[in-house]
Amino acid sequence: LRNLVIVLGDQLDPDLSALDGFDDTRDIVWMAENETEATHVWCHKKRLVLFFAAMRHYRDDLEDHGMRVQYHALSADRRHDSGNDFKSILTASIRALKPRRLVMTECGDHRVQTMLANCAADHGLALQTRPDRHFYCDLAAFDSWSHQRQTLVLEDFYRAMRREHDVLMDADQPKGDTWNFDKANRKSFGREGPGDLPHVRRFRPDAVTKDVAHMVDARYLDHPGDTEGFDLPVTHDEARTALRDFVHQRLANFGPYQDALWTDLQFGYHSRLSAALNLHLISPRECVNAAVAAYDAGDTPINSVEGFIRQILGWREFVRGVYWREMPGYIQRNALDAQLPVPKAYWDGDTDMACIGDAMSNVLENGYAHHIQRLMVLGLFALNAGVHPRAFHDWHMAMYLDAIDWVSLPNALGMSQFGDGGLLGTKPYCASGNYINKMSNYCKNCRFDYRKATGENACPVTTLYWDFLDRNIDHFAANHRMVFQVKNLETKQKDPELMNDIRATARDLRRRIEKQEHI
Ligand code: FAD
Repeated sequence: LRNLVIVLGDQLDPDLSALDGFDDTRDIVWMAENETEATHVWCHKKRLVLFFAAMRHYRDDLEDHGMRVQYHALSADRRHDSGNDFKSILTASIRALKPRRLVMTECGDHRVQTMLANCAADHGLALQTRPDRHFYCDLAAFDSWSHQRQTLVLEDFYRAMRREHDVLMDADQPKGDTWNFDKANRKSFGREGPGDLPHVRRFRPDAVTKDVAHMVDARYLDHPGDTEGFDLPVTHDEARTALRDFVHQRLANFGPYQDALWTDLQFGYHSRLSAALNLHLISPRECVNAAVAAYDAGDTPINSVEGFIRQILGWREFVRGVYWREMPGYIQRNALDAQLPVPKAYWDGDTDMACIGDAMSNVLENGYAHHIQRLMVLGLFALNAGVHPRAFHDWHMAMYLDAIDWVSLPNALGMSQFGDGGLLGTKPYCASGNYINKMSNYCKNCRFDYRKATGENACPVTTLYWDFLDRNIDHFAANHRMVFQVKNLETKQKDPELMNDIRATARDLRRRIEKQEHI
């Protein structure tokens, strides 16, 4: 055998570079569902269904195109497994097939990349790693962009990407005469709420996906979530249908309402494309081009189109560049020395806090929460409380269907928990319950009072916010983006009795989180 071509579960790209020059008489594609990846983090059941169902469909596609695929499937009955971890399954295949070389496309996870390199070295085999064409920005280009800079600013990167790829540009100027429509894009749903939202296209599982769901139910019974109701795209065609559905039904309102929160809001006007994108069932270019086409057709406002493109061409590419530039050290960072575990409610959704309860019902039901539910509800509370950033990332990897190390880590540990000390965001996303009240209706139906930091019905978000600032004041005193918040804290500190009350209430909350008690 010439090449054993390794295809991982997040590389289901129809144009995968590892398959370039594939010769069916001399090469074999190798894919494996494996126990280690499924249990490395305590995965949501729908996440397992998504990966394995999409992998099996991809295998079928390759075989339909006449390629030889050696595919290791997990079976409902563990006794029928062909091995129980990635390395041992690969080792057995290498021994049996005796390839001259391993070929793969760049990984999405530093740990897996290292493990594969070690495995190749153990067998004295060359490992050829090819660039991942899925992304707009290759890793060398990101490195040379970032090394010319003191600080990494998304806005600079994003504008460079717009120019380089000629997206929404009129010659050298941005369409709509401005780069940023954030001001038009930060609306809440007001008093009335979102009203009737467009339905999100759901995909009925076929026989292949049902088989996977049956296997997951049999093997991973105690994992969070439920296979029932699985409805995500698992093929390229389905992913394209999901994109069309978003562009026609929701893109026009994406911009204004992307930050808005509301009880039982699951997807709102968001695309729900991240899982399909991250498994490479659809390419970022298709998504960006579809949004630009909607703008050019004249029926979709620029603030929504730009807002969506900013997420994909800007943030998504930016965090990937940061991940590979900063790993492996990045995962160890804990700038604020936060040590708590994630609250118990982050696993079971059982809490009296209306905001956390609502966001968690989305996470448990769909393995999904939209960006602001992640950043300004679940992330915010964890940050205020002092959850360990690595623990928050591990939890995120377990519970969200779109989580892959390269994208979860910078967002969870960096942007959300400030574990990197401000590399990704120049200020921490901390806030009191006041923010949540402004952006949602949660506080109206909550037993806590978002205005109160102490006393009987004090809001835990608010108590922990003041405590967070108080505990970390040395980190933020010189941060010009924190001036307002630090000033407010200093005013509070002028009342020592109040501050002592806040500290005592916060201590009790933090103790309960540590002990995994109900909040
Ligand atoms: P939309 O709101 O419709 O946005 C469109 C697309 O833009 C998304 O599908 C996604 O591909 C991309 N995008 C938007 N924001 C980001 C971002 N900050 N970083 C990278 N891509 C972005 N996104 C993931 O794909 N995987 C993760 O593991 C992940 N972890 C996150 C953890 C935290 C704590 C936070 C705050 C954000 C995280 N994000 C992650 C980013 C973002 O929240 C999700 O991409 C988004 O909510 C997915 O829903 P959607 O497809 O409806 O996105």
